Amino acid sequence: MQKCDKLIIPGGESTTQLLLIDKLGLREALIEFGKSKAIMGTCAGLIILGNTREHLPSDPLGLIDIKVKRNAYGRQVDSFIDTIQLDLNGMSAEFEGVFIRAPKIMDLGKDVKPLGYLGKDIVLAANERILVATFHPELTDNPVIHRFFIDHFA
Ligand code: GLN
Repeated sequence: MQKCDKLIIPGGESTTQLLLIDKLGLREALIEFGKSKAIMGTCAGLIILGNTREHLPSDPLGLIDIKVKRNAYGRQVDSFIDTIQLDLNGMSAEFEGVFIRAPKIMDLGKDVKPLGYLGKDIVLAANERILVATFHPELTDNPVIHRFFIDHFA
């Protein structure tokens, strides 16, 4: 981690990820990293970076002030692809959002900015150093969200 400028916490299963973070003793290092360098979290990664403990074995990292509901669209078979409206600091674009047993952002803290919507749901958001998506930008060919993370987060 010391060699990295930025981190991405990927999707997967947030209970398992959090158990492993604690078992491997990575919690403090990740929190320290997120206080000085940028982290992007997708799907389960968003749950790990947020501040809602519900159905998790321990507290998430709390690096971004978002209230999260896990599996908010239903079960694995209810996963879907739909068009997201991005608003990346004034740059509007559509993006193909891949939602795999995705969470929902239920509430945002004052320092958290919404950057993408699926209907009324906020699906992409960020504070100064932490960028989170409820969907999987890495499963499409469009690099715009990763490019935004590289260019605008330090
Ligand atoms: N449902 C998973 C969880 O709650 C997240 C799924 C994903 O990362 N695609 O941890």
